Amino acid sequence: MSQDLTTLSAARVADAVKKGEISAEAAAKAAFDRIERLEPTVRAFLAVTKDAALAQARAVDEKRKAGKPLGALAGVPVALKDNLQLAGVETTCASKILKGHIAAYDSTAVARLKAADAVFVGKTNLDEFAMGSSTENSAFQKTTNPWDSSRVPGGSSGGSAAAVAARFCAVALGSDTGGSIRQPAAFCGVVGLKPTYGTVSRYGLVAFASSLDQIGPFTRTVEDAALTLSVIGGHDPLDTTSAARPAPDVAAPPKDLKGLRIGLPLEYFIAGLDPEVERAVRAAVEMLESLGATVKDISLPHTKYAIASYYIVAPCEASSNLARFDGIRYGFVDRSASSLEEVYEFTRGSGFGAEVKRRIMLGTYALSSGYYDAYYAKAQRVRTLMARDFQKAFAEVDLIACPTTPTPPFRFGEKTDDPVAMYLSDVFTIPSNMAGNVSLSIPCGLSAKGLPLGVQLVADQFGDARLLAAARVFEAARPFPALQ
Ligand code: GLN
Repeated sequence: MSQDLTTLSAARVADAVKKGEISAEAAAKAAFDRIERLEPTVRAFLAVTKDAALAQARAVDEKRKAGKPLGALAGVPVALKDNLQLAGVETTCASKILKGHIAAYDSTAVARLKAADAVFVGKTNLDEFAMGSSTENSAFQKTTNPWDSSRVPGGSSGGSAAAVAARFCAVALGSDTGGSIRQPAAFCGVVGLKPTYGTVSRYGLVAFASSLDQIGPFTRTVEDAALTLSVIGGHDPLDTTSAARPAPDVAAPPKDLKGLRIGLPLEYFIAGLDPEVERAVRAAVEMLESLGATVKDISLPHTKYAIASYYIVAPCEASSNLARFDGIRYGFVDRSASSLEEVYEFTRGSGFGAEVKRRIMLGTYALSSGYYDAYYAKAQRVRTLMARDFQKAFAEVDLIACPTTPTPPFRFGEKTDDPVAMYLSDVFTIPSNMAGNVSLSIPCGLSAKGLPLGVQLVADQFGDARLLAAARVFEAARPFPALQ
């Protein structure tokens, strides 16, 4: 095959490796050639694991030569957000406090990728502890948007989104607590899937807000998202919130969308929505209609409380989850301390960045006695109302279509001085985390400046396979150009 192997989808790589048309080693080498060429500008990776990847790839090729069956992602180059544990490799969460922490075990999602013969090319950059929407909160480096290096890739999984867009790998895993897969996917012109809560085990994912966090894939095709989910999904006894269900299968897409009912939430098409985003999303909806779907307006009336309630629930859970980083158990310790108290104080003081500290303080305050009912309990009630909005909507429609983000990718520094402006990036993605349903961002066009725009499709809990099948019909009718 004389083709550039980095242009192939994961499904195509796995198929070609299984048939012996290409070697896993050649696919890995093509990925590293591209990484060596473009990574100095993109800066998607916190660690590139070239030697281990080439060894893994050769082992896949040996397995094939020995006539052993190969897994569903045979030889597919995969990147991992650096809040997922890959045994033997540093996991930093892009935080100084975890510098030097070597993972002692594989996350379940990672172990399943390994068992499916995927090849790990590296660990990707993120906003520290997955808190942010631009990857600018990384303690180590800025990742640039491969479509325009003066702009952010989105966040918090900005490194994973950029890596797939730049064709450093066919698949990258991210985590999505309030939009961190879908928002960067929209910004980088790739597919990003947040599965139904409980579909992918969180075992080995460094917890941010446990009731919202979900692992999911970035890919360049919807088929690859479905394929990856079929590998990493399914029940895991190591995660008590893992659903007792098998992984969603890769369902063959129907030939059209006849009979599919799509809802447009009125509250998402509001002032503040960038006109170019709106135009692209409406054009995508017309395309869905022309494929046979029926479209009607629906209402998700509690959307206006999404940001406010998320910024109580998520920091509360974060303040509790991040208490474990005390200078004793993991990674970095500030050695200038002269008492135990100072070990905690100095390590956390110099180890955590400003945004993480802001969340810990917010969460600790909201959970303190006297405030718990006023803030945390109330936010949880609002969360229930948001989930009910979706239940009502899904009694009338099969899918919801809406923008993924209010704006196209923004410039570095544009929102760093105003945390609330940054938080607003997730106004359309947070509701799915609060309700625990499945949603996906799929590219739907380019702005006048050539920046990617995304449309978000949402389905009810455990509607993952149905959502992916419909998205495949859309994608086939409206292919999106990969970055050259
Ligand atoms: N941007 C949101 C936040 O900062 C969402 C992050 C995420 O999904 N991990 O909390």
